[in-house]
Amino acid sequence: MRIAIVGAGKGGTSLLEILSEDPLIKITGVADRKKAAPGIRLARALRIPTTADFKTLLKKKNDIIINVTGSPKVEAALQASKRDGIEILSGRSAKLAWTLIDERQKSQREAERLLSEYLSLYDLSLKLSSIENIAKLYTTVIDYAAELTRTPAGSLAMFDEERGEMVLVASKGFSREFARVRRWRVRKGGLTTYILNQKGVVAIESLKKLPKFNNPVLLEEKVEAVAAIPLWNEGKILGILYVNDFKPHLFSEKETSLLSLVSTIAATSIGKAKILEMTRLMAITDELTGLFNHRHLLQQLSSELSRTQRYGRALTLAMLDIDHFKQYNDTHGHLMGNEVLRTLGDLIRRNIRETDIAARYGGEEFSIIMPETNRTRGKLIAERLRKAIADYPFKNGKTQPGGALNVSIGLATYPENAASPHDLIEAADRALYRAKSTGRNRVCLSTKDGGQGSGAGGRGKTK
Ligand code: GH3
Ligand code: MG
Ligand code: MG
Repeated sequence: MRIAIVGAGKGGTSLLEILSEDPLIKITGVADRKKAAPGIRLARALRIPTTADFKTLLKKKNDIIINVTGSPKVEAALQASKRDGIEILSGRSAKLAWTLIDERQKSQREAERLLSEYLSLYDLSLKLSSIENIAKLYTTVIDYAAELTRTPAGSLAMFDEERGEMVLVASKGFSREFARVRRWRVRKGGLTTYILNQKGVVAIESLKKLPKFNNPVLLEEKVEAVAAIPLWNEGKILGILYVNDFKPHLFSEKETSLLSLVSTIAATSIGKAKILEMTRLMAITDELTGLFNHRHLLQQLSSELSRTQRYGRALTLAMLDIDHFKQYNDTHGHLMGNEVLRTLGDLIRRNIRETDIAARYGGEEFSIIMPETNRTRGKLIAERLRKAIADYPFKNGKTQPGGALNVSIGLATYPENAASPHDLIEAADRALYRAKSTGRNRVCLSTKDGGQGSGAGGRGKTK
């Protein structure tokens, strides 16, 4: 069938789109006075002849001429010069034709979109199952949730059961200030409580209409619309997934159902990742003190030392041992001794920098890797720590005979004292031994030859 189209506006374009896909139909030409009409441009792209004068179309062999111009003049001219065997479809019948076609196209587009959304969910589940890094997992979930709900912003908050607080773990589309408020309490009557009590999606078109849920952070960010859903995994709430808009946003049923599907996929993956993370953490943590364990210390020392060597920097290692701890145990019992070890873990954590790595080396010995730290600076930090421990009011610490709680610390620095992890530990150990033998409760530095018998110990301060 050979068809020509007169009029290349909305109607003509729809007709052209659909008819040109049918292999049984040949479009012989498209006419429109406007050279830039959308249908003319489409016809050119499809390599279909175009013309500004519809009369040209009459010269070609056609079965049907469809006139969607709506112009009586064009209609009259077409009818006047019509040849036998050609049908002219115009006026209401042409309008009906393109409306039907348009409807069909719309539902086809809708079906395609639906398919692409479900494909995107499938894609999300595949992606999440291959992500090892939990932070990346969080941002991927937000990206998909925002895209599927056509929102510019979103965030993910995890529920800290112990403290009854929400912890923001990832966000997109907000100011830097937003991410700074990392924790908030779950307040009775607040938005969070409301969301946590729902099984499904909570969708709020505009917070302006719900002043009871307004909160300073959302106001500050000019958040207007919110859709949120709790993440459930194995009967427990993991957190809440939010998407946000800065203008009113009426969330459609489809958007909320997609958000709900994203939350299910996300909850499973996050649940798994959390278990994995906990297992990993347990494998490198000392249970009693919460510091790293001996094995992790050795691994870290090796990698930190390589990095230090590569960049030509300094690194100081501290070995710490409690003074007369046997006596303390004998006097107060092993359990009280354990309590001391736990407190020492806290004191060490509080007195080192974020980049330092503290571990329980074994028994009542601790070790601290201080990257980017030379002898002088290492001594300063170790001395501060020693003093903090000596000043700490341990239970029974100063009152009972033999119960004094001090530590001795030995330090060794790369590159002066050693070049390998093993030698560095040995050098720090020798310095520690000297701290013990010269009176305890002091910091001793390793000397260049490894610390044996030099006068450096004299620099160790006694309280
Ligand atoms: P020094 O000043 O020479 O270090 O004397 P010390 O008594 O502390 O001697 P040492 O460093 O050899 O201390 C080992 C003691 O530490 C033996 C043990 O009673 C105690 N200890 C080791 N591990 C633990 C532990 O996990 N818990 C408790 N409570 N005590 C421990
Ligand atoms: Mg010891
Ligand atoms: Mg000891």
